[in-house]
Amino acid sequence: MQTRLADFMRDSAEGREAEEILRKCVHCGFCTATCPTYQVLGDDLDSPRGRIYLMKRALEGAPVTGKTRLHLDRCLTCRACETTCPSGVRYGRLVDIGRAVVEQRAPRPPLDRLKRALLAFALPRTGLFAFFLKLGRAVRPLLPAMLKSKVPGKIEPAGAWPAPRHARRMLVLAGCVQPALAPAINAAAARVLDRAGISLIEAPGAGCCGGIRFHLNYQEAGRDDMRALIDAWWPMVERGEVEAIVATASGCGVTVKDYGHLLAQDGNYRDKAARIAALAKDLCEVLPLEAIAAGGARGRVAFQSPCTLQHGQQIRGKVEARLARAGFELTSVADAHLCCGSAGTYSLLQPAIAGELRARKLEALQGDAPGCIATANIGCLSHLQERARIPVRHWVELLDRMSA
Ligand code: SF4
Ligand code: SF4
Repeated sequence: MQTRLADFMRDSAEGREAEEILRKCVHCGFCTATCPTYQVLGDDLDSPRGRIYLMKRALEGAPVTGKTRLHLDRCLTCRACETTCPSGVRYGRLVDIGRAVVEQRAPRPPLDRLKRALLAFALPRTGLFAFFLKLGRAVRPLLPAMLKSKVPGKIEPAGAWPAPRHARRMLVLAGCVQPALAPAINAAAARVLDRAGISLIEAPGAGCCGGIRFHLNYQEAGRDDMRALIDAWWPMVERGEVEAIVATASGCGVTVKDYGHLLAQDGNYRDKAARIAALAKDLCEVLPLEAIAAGGARGRVAFQSPCTLQHGQQIRGKVEARLARAGFELTSVADAHLCCGSAGTYSLLQPAIAGELRARKLEALQGDAPGCIATANIGCLSHLQERARIPVRHWVELLDRMSA
């Protein structure tokens, strides 16, 4: 696609990157077939092709309105379009650049700004979020239905975390909301890896990966979170004490894997960020298949592969292989490439589209009579659990229970 970027973009690193991405798009429209928002809304401006056109116009200096911003807001950043695109268009990177420009040129109304500011303030602060969650649970019966569904009635206790005893050691990302919403996930990962000869360690002070604020378009604040996390991990990484950094939430993992790129313009952190990104792994990449005791007849499970795992990290089949090895029977799931509607803070900011996508996803997941749903990301887990008829668990919790 021919582009002529406006003066304010032409000489910037973002401008050069955006131009390179835009030039790859041949406007063929193959990506529309796998775009969840296009499937729900049926408007070309809510498809990857339409959004690419809107961003191109904005970067070329054409007038930008609230409508332009709305079509970009409705994008889940699920990156299904990247998986489908035959020309290798890096849509996810383009939309990061496009959103920053569009929001600057067409500022949000005050209420919208306030809502996003509150989310950007509260969610990445682990202690604050835990406090609000505790408060919400205490008054849960009194909450309005919409809020009540967001506050889990029951939270599984974490259980014991094995003391580090193996020569093989890995860091695990604690995350921001996961320690309060589902403390059992990282503890289960620590127990499962411990049995596989790997000790899992949480570094003190290592919290949010930066993804929440970055994707709310507080991009510099998101980068501050990334730098803080690098600082918390760096002493152990520098001393060579850990062989990998493990994420049990694929949404966080995809962000950490991108640190080298996201901090490429920061001379102080560029090299550290690239090293951290190279060490980052999803849990399914570090748990050896042969370390899982082979079993049979553990029950039927529907696996929901998060977009951040299958599209963002391009990991497919690894979790399924581990569940199958353990003896779980995987049920068939229609349209497994489509987003469940969670998408970070999307379900809070675009509840109608997110609700429709969740209804479709749950129909697909529950259609083949599974006993439970397994996933690999806390956001998807919480979002699906609100309306699922059957339990929704992180896949490592299933493996942990089986061998307990
Ligand atoms: S993003 Fe890829 S699939 Fe979509 S219109 Fe452009 S070239 Fe075609
Ligand atoms: S990231 Fe997802 S929602 Fe956004 S344009 Fe691509 S396929 Fe559609």
